[in-house]
Amino acid sequence: MKIIAWTAPLVAALASSTAAVAGEAKTASAPTWSLAIHGGAGVIERADMSAEKDAAYRAALRAALDAGAAVLKAGGSSTDAITAVIARLEEDPKFNAGKGAVYTWDGTHELDASIMDGRTRAAGAVAGVTTVRSPITLARRVMEDGPHVMLAGKGAEEFAKEKGLEMVPNSWFDTPERLEALERLKAEKLSAIDVDIKYGTVGAVALDTHGNMAAGTSTGGMTGKRWNRIGDAPVIGAGTYAENGVCAVSATGWGEFFIRVGVARTICARISMKGETAQAAADETLADVVRLGGDGGVIVVGPTGDAVFAMSDGMYRGRATSAGVNEVAIYGDER
Ligand code: ASP
Repeated sequence: MKIIAWTAPLVAALASSTAAVAGEAKTASAPTWSLAIHGGAGVIERADMSAEKDAAYRAALRAALDAGAAVLKAGGSSTDAITAVIARLEEDPKFNAGKGAVYTWDGTHELDASIMDGRTRAAGAVAGVTTVRSPITLARRVMEDGPHVMLAGKGAEEFAKEKGLEMVPNSWFDTPERLEALERLKAEKLSAIDVDIKYGTVGAVALDTHGNMAAGTSTGGMTGKRWNRIGDAPVIGAGTYAENGVCAVSATGWGEFFIRVGVARTICARISMKGETAQAAADETLADVVRLGGDGGVIVVGPTGDAVFAMSDGMYRGRATSAGVNEVAIYGDER
């Protein structure tokens, strides 16, 4: 599988800069704020997308991108910006997070989410929650208002109730499209990775005008998952990572491989220790995922504040920066 790099135009302009952290330097034109978002990666072919569906996804990505960018433009924090983006996409049934989450083998929903604040490297994660309306909001409460980094299942739900978060019946996450995907998987004896609408995880990464970075990811996981399977999205260092001055990363794709490669942390380590650009670090790390047999994509804000993407196929995505970048895209060959 070919890795598709989607480099922000400003990266080229920065190529001649002198080295700061990781061989990338800020220039006068470097963005003071930056945001990248994703709504899942996978094989997304034009032939399978009607004009209406294509437009609906772009509109949803655009609205989420604008909501996050508004926070950053107003001087708000990267953590608030990514929470705004992800919480919004969780409510949109087109994406596999919150409402519209995929079904487990047993016909229920188990949601995973995580968030990381690059300023302090505080982090919060929840796995296998079933009745919390906004898993990203819960992950943030874990980060800001609890002694632990990662909570799972019943305990995470108890914590959510104690903190007064909105709870919903598990059936609230139901959608006919995702049910159909489960039924097809069972009827055709497919594995989760063969179901073409398997992806749709959501995530966001940001740099704010105070120089702080943050990253977050939320998902329903993979269709037909069993045995309380947990993917990479709630694993800090696999699906999500942020460290000020280095990077903010959110991943989407076949979670088992992203966990094994430790994707998000590896990208940040390559930048800080090897001096790679954000684009090179993302491409190399994703190439490793693909070599092992996995697929997916990542969004990264690097040390210069540039927002970059890397993906094995297509990815619902968008980015906006104070330097004038502002776009959404779907297919792998879109530039
Ligand atoms: N990474 C997610 C998981 O494995 C799925 C996805 O991103 O589509 O649970």
